[in-house]
Amino acid sequence: MKPDVTTELYPPARLARVREATAEAGLGALLLTPGPDLRYVTGYDAIQLERLTCLAVPAEGDPFLVVPRLELAAAQASPAGSLDLEMVPWEETDDPYALVARRLGGIDAVGVADRMWAVMALRFRDAMPQARQVPASRVMSRLRIRKSPAEVAALREAGAAIDRVHRQVPALLKAGRTEREVGRDIAEAIVAEGHARVDFVIVGSGPNAASPHHELSDRVIRPGEPVVVDIGGTMPSGYCSDETRNYCIGEPPADYLAYYEVLQRAQEAACRAVRPGTTPEEVDAAARRIIADAGYGEHFIHRTGHGIGLETHEDPYIVAGNTEPLEPGMAFSVEPGIYPGAHGARIEDIVVCTEDGFERMNHVDRGLIIVD
Ligand code: ZN
Ligand code: ZN
Ligand code: ZN
Repeated sequence: MKPDVTTELYPPARLARVREATAEAGLGALLLTPGPDLRYVTGYDAIQLERLTCLAVPAEGDPFLVVPRLELAAAQASPAGSLDLEMVPWEETDDPYALVARRLGGIDAVGVADRMWAVMALRFRDAMPQARQVPASRVMSRLRIRKSPAEVAALREAGAAIDRVHRQVPALLKAGRTEREVGRDIAEAIVAEGHARVDFVIVGSGPNAASPHHELSDRVIRPGEPVVVDIGGTMPSGYCSDETRNYCIGEPPADYLAYYEVLQRAQEAACRAVRPGTTPEEVDAAARRIIADAGYGEHFIHRTGHGIGLETHEDPYIVAGNTEPLEPGMAFSVEPGIYPGAHGARIEDIVVCTEDGFERMNHVDRGLIIVD
């Protein structure tokens, strides 16, 4: 069943909750320009433009949305239009920064959206020189990090969509095709399977598989080569998918098979470590220990995972040093990798911490997928 976008995924009560959290954080206000925070609070998927659109959430007083006159109709038609939220349109010759500053008065600390353009943050600093600026994530991360049941349902829907794309990959991956040709077909499938947008397509063949963020190239894929396929997109709900599987055209090299088996055990162990109270660094260590014990430690060159939701990368990060215990509703990737150089592999699922363990959002077979 699809979640009701306006009331379940983006509940109207969130605005009041954010105001409380702003006050609790000792900030005078929060300023949220178009991006994941604004969407989280209001459901409004606004476009980033040079003209200022900004939700101001004062710790005391009513929130208001400053919006360019020509964007007003779009803002009213969005889920924000059904909130108890004043919309303040500004004309082409107005100074919207001064307008926000005037309405907020002499506050001494303000949270600015992490994704706010620097030019806007700088103009707010000029308009409110007395207000110390801090990242809005100090308020927003604690809220966004625990997903509601509707958000988990949206992530499950995104996971199922990207699973359907991976199931098509064996038919697209052929010796003689380039990474770019395969990637183009995968991008089409990402949209065809229900995403609103393609966020990234990684097809890493042979030595390119050993570079974790290699995207696409004109390299021709050859028989006997392992291929890493790491893909993701954003669903109409706003929630993201991200899944990595490994393919090989025919028989893989023996040394590859040796470490692939280790990698699969490591990914499984890290997933099984997920439960309330476990720390992200323990989840990271669960994967890293197995890889290091097998002698591949130096080839696991990144953290084990990242949070996911309205952004592909957000809190919590699954990395040594992160000791904030996991809680039910936290969603993140578990994606250890081994990259010796001639080839490489990474296995990635999105998992959600549940009341007593974890739930995977991705279900495609994690074993090496042989393509002929
Ligand atoms: Zn990545
Ligand atoms: Zn990925
Ligand atoms: Zn990822």
